[in-house]
Amino acid sequence: MSNHRRRAHALYATVCLALFAAISPASALNENGAAGASEEHLVIFHFNDLHGRIERLSRMATVVREARRQYRHVYFFCAGDNFSGNPVVDQADPRGEPVLKLLNTLGIQAMVLGNHEFDYGQEVLLGFVGRSRFPVLCANIEAHGPGWESVKPLVGIQSAAGPLLTVLGLIQIEPDSGIPSAHPSRLEGLKFQDPIETAVAFRSRLPRKGVRIALSHLGYATDRQLAEALPELDLILGGHSHTVLDSGVSHNGVLIAQAGAHGDYLGRIDVVLEAGEVTRSEARLIPMDSVQPAPDILSMVKAFESNPVMERVVATLPRTLEGKTVLGNWICDMLCRQLNLDIAFHNAGGVRVNRLEGAVRLQDIYQMLPFENLVVRMELYPREIRGLIATDISKHGKVDLLMSGIRLRVARTAAGKIHAIELMGPDGTPLNENRRYAVGFNSYIASSYRFDHDDPGKSLEMTTAASVIAYLESGRPPIPSDPALRAEEEIVAAPADTVDARCEDPLETGPDPFAGSSAAGNLMADAMREQSGAQVALFPSRLLVPGIRIAAGTSIGRPQLRSMFKHAEKNAIQVARLSGGQLRAFLLQQARFRKGMDLQVSGMSCTFCRNLAGVIDRVECRVADGSRLDQQTALKVAFCAYDYDRFYKLKPLAVEPRDSAVTLESALLRYLSRHPRLDSDLSSPRMILRDCADGE
Ligand SMILES: [Zn+2]
Repeated sequence: MSNHRRRAHALYATVCLALFAAISPASALNENGAAGASEEHLVIFHFNDLHGRIERLSRMATVVREARRQYRHVYFFCAGDNFSGNPVVDQADPRGEPVLKLLNTLGIQAMVLGNHEFDYGQEVLLGFVGRSRFPVLCANIEAHGPGWESVKPLVGIQSAAGPLLTVLGLIQIEPDSGIPSAHPSRLEGLKFQDPIETAVAFRSRLPRKGVRIALSHLGYATDRQLAEALPELDLILGGHSHTVLDSGVSHNGVLIAQAGAHGDYLGRIDVVLEAGEVTRSEARLIPMDSVQPAPDILSMVKAFESNPVMERVVATLPRTLEGKTVLGNWICDMLCRQLNLDIAFHNAGGVRVNRLEGAVRLQDIYQMLPFENLVVRMELYPREIRGLIATDISKHGKVDLLMSGIRLRVARTAAGKIHAIELMGPDGTPLNENRRYAVGFNSYIASSYRFDHDDPGKSLEMTTAASVIAYLESGRPPIPSDPALRAEEEIVAAPADTVDARCEDPLETGPDPFAGSSAAGNLMADAMREQSGAQVALFPSRLLVPGIRIAAGTSIGRPQLRSMFKHAEKNAIQVARLSGGQLRAFLLQQARFRKGMDLQVSGMSCTFCRNLAGVIDRVECRVADGSRLDQQTALKVAFCAYDYDRFYKLKPLAVEPRDSAVTLESALLRYLSRHPRLDSDLSSPRMILRDCADGE
């Protein structure tokens, strides 16, 4: 065991001793991992949703190889979605080849098909399956034709003198379409069955002994249903929902594990069997950031990455584009100009990066738009465009589409019931109801959004990525997207909504969740502060849904708040005591990490300075009475508990007990019932970012 690992173990032991002492299989094992006479100890590694991040495999190799040296029974599984997200993988020839070669070299025991495995089409996928040295599983697919016989529903794995592992593969299907979340054209000729029903039908094929595993690309919520329907399973190695389960979740006696996404973590499960039956299991995640890459695997990765074509700079942006809304609108702006469209739409889920700045390379564009969807053009009347928007709202509960050439004003209830959709041109004048407009969107929208339209549409035989690249390389200016929001949604109360409070003034989330000054974010911070009795409260802006407006005098209940805030019904408040110096250091660290504001504040105002090099290097804060935040003063600060636990690295002077019954949502409802009239300066900024010359 290296010193590094010894240290990591020692730390882990200190932190978790109390928690794991009772159940840890490690505590039943001696130092070299040998179990008692009748016991067997297995180590199972798993990852999911790699989405092309192959460099991470070189780090996983280090951990898995060390375990193989240390333990007799070590297994390694992949829970799907290896493709789409990295041009080095997506543009390779054949497509996806780097992942295949690396997984063959690393020696995984099985993988399940994820929905993104279909992104390059069935022919490429079958080539991948044919050349893989490991079984590719999927039980709930019905496919005929050459090649598909290699995809198996389940596999039994038994090494010399080891226990039997039975692994069942399952892929998610969308409730409305009954097919996986992939472009329908890539699923032609394939049928999919309900994954839970399929799993239950395999009950009789699960042996009584050994380790029974579902290798699942179903998402965490469905994994819980699977555990309820098939409690015979010992483990569910999950994927698709990108859920970070630090130590797994035991549900109905089944241990569900999932390792986030993008190779951020490698999941490790220690399983102990007695007389061939699982008696204990323990899951944890190993962060890959702190693991050294295996040199031989890393050099394979570097060879794949050194494709010089991808490094070509296609544009230099005059300013940073941040957030899916801004990027998606920018993509639509270019589609309109490049393809002579009046209007363009793009789905937010199809924009795969959050930020672009400076010199934009070919690979940045492919990373942003990895799905290779072709642009479809339709001639649509405004009433038909309304149908498209209504479909979007019914799919997502809000306007998810990003756009160019058009502005929307939508009045809907918090539950998504539409009262009115106003369509305007970019200058705010209403669209002409008797005219047809040339509207473009990707083929994913064309085939999966059902709405009435006379024109069946025509493929422009050009992908969105290729259209964007063609525009950028034409030498025309890279039109920095106008950051103004193009869709505004007004929430109107439905009569049946439960009313908990009333707001006499309009309430808005603002166009940009990272602007640090939206009225709704400030209001939430105020509510957190009042509820907790803290001097300062911090609310993470990423929990705001942008572009939502609640009209003056609206009765407000949980549905209204849920349309404005994400997860407020789950998140609790954590109060900690910090010194003024600690608080400033924390704010500065967050702003640097986010390269801007991601916190809204109550009880304080702060000015951040960005120096000439673009680095945020100073922050000055003033507390409520106008005095400067003193280095030494101890302050009670209220945080969103989830972010406090997950993301913030703080060593507070003291931590107050948490009341998980009080959520951000209940705090805000209580606050509104006490203060139905909002403070008139609620929307004035409390977090200000300035460009400061050095020494200013
Ligand atoms: Zn997936």
